[in-house]
Amino acid sequence: MIIFERERAPYSISTDPARLDLDAIHAFLAHESYWAAGIAKNVLARGIAHSLCFGVYRAGAQIGFARVISDYATYAYLNDVYILSPHRGQGLASWLIECVLGAHLRDVLRILEVCLVYDRRARRYTWHLVVENGREPKAWPGTNVVAVDLGEIHPAVVGDGQQATSISCRERRHEQQGHAKRLAKLSKALSRKQKGSRRERRLKQARSRMRAKHRRVMRDMEHKISRAVIDVAVGQQANRIVIGDVRDIADGVKLGKQHNQQSSQWNHGQIRRYITYKAEAEGMSVELVEEHYTTQTCPNCSKRHKPRGRKYTCGQCGFSTHRDVVGQINILSRYTTGQVGCLRAPTIIKHRIPHNLRVMRRRRDTGQSVMAVARGTGRQSREAAGLMNFYY
Ligand SMILES: [Zn+2]
Repeated sequence: MIIFERERAPYSISTDPARLDLDAIHAFLAHESYWAAGIAKNVLARGIAHSLCFGVYRAGAQIGFARVISDYATYAYLNDVYILSPHRGQGLASWLIECVLGAHLRDVLRILEVCLVYDRRARRYTWHLVVENGREPKAWPGTNVVAVDLGEIHPAVVGDGQQATSISCRERRHEQQGHAKRLAKLSKALSRKQKGSRRERRLKQARSRMRAKHRRVMRDMEHKISRAVIDVAVGQQANRIVIGDVRDIADGVKLGKQHNQQSSQWNHGQIRRYITYKAEAEGMSVELVEEHYTTQTCPNCSKRHKPRGRKYTCGQCGFSTHRDVVGQINILSRYTTGQVGCLRAPTIIKHRIPHNLRVMRRRRDTGQSVMAVARGTGRQSREAAGLMNFYY
């Protein structure tokens, strides 16, 4: 293994595993970081042994760290980045990130811009990176058209006339319910506090951090769902994606309390935007199709009726299939023929989950209570570093 070393007096950066000071790294991560609070030393040692680690040193003492998990080809995950507080504000962290991305990962990603951005609501810093993934927008030779139906239970069904793929994401519900539960607990605690008191202020801050994190988790899922949609479209040799336009549903048509609540959980506008730019990078175009009656019309006999539950069964002809597949084929039907119900439903139905969905570990998993979260572990540690994820 080639050891990478850089010097910027009086500091130096090295990937030499022998120079790493496990005690110093553990002291920071276990006691000062919020993301690895309470981590056991042997667990950390094992993680370090299987990662590419960068140490920042001053006069032999370790004052900073970054750890990369990578296959050195297409994937790199950076975490546990920190610089001890007396050494912050000198651009050391940016230098460290430059070294990380330059050293062994040059072929993975070319870095165009690094910046440390303060997330006011989450009250912490995150790294924003602009990286080049080396992919040119393609002149896509395919001629197929695939339709996408964005739904509530299954975030998307993608397909042409032969084959539909239902993309599911159970983590969404897990995250949604967990968030609601934590929020309720916090609101209850908040209602018992005196207005304007220090405790109340702290709890309110904890609540906005919690909401900010929830939004980030949801955005992560939306990115991965849209990536899965594009992967299916590429697999089906599409050069055009048509998406059901649900804008008017969200714009105030009353569908009953429960449905309204469900509809608000996925940000379909955002997913549509993610699909659009990812499609363009693959050389595909995206068009919107009006969604009226697409879930109601039978693709077998064109009669219209409201489906109940997840299965669509036609009362006229007895035809039966997955409910979201009906939406998908009718969107395709409206696009290609101008009407719904003119295309037969695809007979091959596949299921897939978005690639690499991350199950979030929260601080509560370390045994801390919500109240402990509200107290926080000190602003400095929150500011020390952020995690990042690459989206292609
Ligand atoms: Zn029918």
